[in-house]
Amino acid sequence: MVNNKWIILLGIIAIAKAKGGRRNASIIDVVNDLPHHPTLRYPTRNLGDITQIIIHHAAVEQRFASCNAEAFANYHINSRGWAGIGYHIVIEKDGAIKLCNYLTTISNNIGNANTRSIGICLAGNFEIDAFTNVQLQPLLNAINWIYLQLGRKVNIYPHQQFASTSCPGANVMAKLQSIKSSVQAPNA
Ligand SMILES: [Zn+2]
Repeated sequence: MVNNKWIILLGIIAIAKAKGGRRNASIIDVVNDLPHHPTLRYPTRNLGDITQIIIHHAAVEQRFASCNAEAFANYHINSRGWAGIGYHIVIEKDGAIKLCNYLTTISNNIGNANTRSIGICLAGNFEIDAFTNVQLQPLLNAINWIYLQLGRKVNIYPHQQFASTSCPGANVMAKLQSIKSSVQAPNA
């Protein structure tokens, strides 16, 4: 007769491992894997220059195959003429946290405030797509990772606070205050 206790114990270990995997959300460095402009390069800065995190969405619906960091990079390079992707971090639709520019890179994501800003983009169009824990928890993990790199907390703003845009979308805006509270941003 099979010992059911062993089967239950193995099942518990498997579940615990799966949960642990989700908790230890890792940052995937794709800085050198993403496309870059053949000649243009973004300028750099010291981490001490950074005072804020800007939350964006891609405004590309998740049902499209082009809703991912590589497609955003191609768009920024080929259509905008930028040196590379504008965002520092992209939270992909499956929740993967992609580091797309090092934090010392001054990339384009917030007009004349690029020098002091880190841009995080949520893959999706959150005027239409639901903003669920699949991306919410990785967003919190990414912000906490940034705080660790900086050794301090910085303010968090939605793109729409600085420009006439709906970015990062109504469904993200609905959770912005709870995001700020969760990571205890200075302006929470
Ligand atoms: Zn934006």
